[in-house]
Amino acid sequence: MARIETPKRIRGTQDIFGDEQRRFATVLEKFDWVRRLYCFQRVEIPVFEATGVFARSMGETSDVVSKEMYTFEDRGGDSITLRPEFTAGIARAFITEGWQQHAPMKLVTSGAVFRYERPQKGRFRQFHQIDAEIIGAAEPAADVELLVLADQLLHELGIAEGVTLQLNTLGDAETRDAWRTALVAHFEKHREELSEDSQTRLEKNPLRILDSKDPRDRPIADSAPGIDAFLTEEAGAFFKAVTDGLDAAGVAWTRNARLVRGLDYYRHTAFEFVTDRLGAQGTVLAGGRYDGLIGSLGGPETPGVGWAAGVERLAMLIDEPVTEQQDVIIAIEDDRAIGTGFRALKLLRENGLSADMIATGSPKKRYDKAAKILATTLVAIGVRDDKIVVNTRAAKASDAHVRVEEVLRGLATA
Ligand code: ATP
Ligand code: MG
Repeated sequence: MARIETPKRIRGTQDIFGDEQRRFATVLEKFDWVRRLYCFQRVEIPVFEATGVFARSMGETSDVVSKEMYTFEDRGGDSITLRPEFTAGIARAFITEGWQQHAPMKLVTSGAVFRYERPQKGRFRQFHQIDAEIIGAAEPAADVELLVLADQLLHELGIAEGVTLQLNTLGDAETRDAWRTALVAHFEKHREELSEDSQTRLEKNPLRILDSKDPRDRPIADSAPGIDAFLTEEAGAFFKAVTDGLDAAGVAWTRNARLVRGLDYYRHTAFEFVTDRLGAQGTVLAGGRYDGLIGSLGGPETPGVGWAAGVERLAMLIDEPVTEQQDVIIAIEDDRAIGTGFRALKLLRENGLSADMIATGSPKKRYDKAAKILATTLVAIGVRDDKIVVNTRAAKASDAHVRVEEVLRGLATA
């Protein structure tokens, strides 16, 4: 007989279950809670886009576009790409859906993103991001708003300890041009010592060499001229307004003058929340201002600022296992009482109480089985003298238990 081959999970994908799933869900729940507090609207965008949306907006020389995209031809012969991030898709939506009329827009989204990377701990091919953007606001107050939101989220998750906000400015166009010229002169002097990738970057986007992880590039990048000598008055004032805003809101930050975001269209603020608790994958949340993006995609010149964070990496930082305690577990101690059990379940759930029932296996063992389940109230339903008897027991007095007793009083009259 032919053996059936069992299916395999594709490398770099994950099945998330149990404690891991609860941490994952906690990140998404807190994110949704905080985005409401800050009055951000949620948007849903497609999982795939025309390849050009990412190629043009993220830059041909970026790691993501040059080697990490999931790109293929669909049955119609169009080149499509699974989203490797959210910003490009949101910018595309802003243009194609005419969202200009709603600007400024405070938006969030979240979901799966895809990158063809070498799978390792904390690095997947399908992973998840939460993402927050403000589109159509040129003022530093927007940058402050997004950073304060990020900071509160990390606090709500209980993981702010050991995470540092590293902040930099990339200046305005004039600043960037002057800095770029100085960087090119510096890197040209060391051209031969640079990695092949960085030699290509030198032609196309020298700033990105500062971001290189290649050990051959690091000393040359670390000795490169910083941006401060080139900051225009305006760019300096913008950065000061951002840092003043953070200080006023009580958000701690440190300057990292070498921090550059990988993408070509970034201006002014660039930032990363970094932890020393995840080894090589230390960046948990990253973003910046991308005033050139929407214009470079052919849309109306529109400023924007935003960030993204890996859900898995945030979830890994949560120490405490997140428990999910249900309100009620019912033990049906006599099969003749099962109808009462169904009615009780329905009543409880209709009243917003979580409830489950044990009505299989030996009736004598059901109570003990139920007692092992983490629930506020244990309800035993049995039959005595041909009458249905309902008994409730709580581990300790609580509002939830009082509600259960109230709701179950309706059982007798039903
Ligand atoms: P890295 O330097 O780790 O490659 P990146 O610069 O590619 O990160 P971004 O594009 O800024 O990362 O994505 C934002 C966040 O998404 C990261 O800070 C990280 O938390 C998460 N992330 C990025 N790539 C992966 C991956 N392959 N698996 C899991 N999480 C990831
Ligand atoms: Mg990467």
